[in-house]
Amino acid sequence: MTLEAQGNQYSGFFCSYADDGEHHDRLKPCPFCGAKIDLEIGNIHTPSFFVACRNCGVEVTGCTPKLKRGGKILTASRALRIFAEAMELAITQWNTRAAPTADQGRAGLSGEDAA
Ligand SMILES: [Zn+2]
Repeated sequence: MTLEAQGNQYSGFFCSYADDGEHHDRLKPCPFCGAKIDLEIGNIHTPSFFVACRNCGVEVTGCTPKLKRGGKILTASRALRIFAEAMELAITQWNTRAAPTADQGRAGLSGEDAA
């Protein structure tokens, strides 16, 4: 896992993440377009990760509820744990996402047949 803790006890710790593809074998194909390789796991510098499909643009987000909004993480090891948990949530969200129904989840997708 390419998670690295940064920060200090005054500003709080956070993790940066570089998607090296290591977790991609755990991702199911995109429920919208079936893409298997154009998937990306990303982090937005808070304990929140997304899994996105580069082919059709859908994404799901996984955030850990353990950190209050604006709360600080005071140790590097805790930051790593919280961020890893958030990544697991994003992966789980992606893998349990049902294929969209006709009236749901199609926002932003165009030129696609809503069969
Ligand atoms: Zn897709």
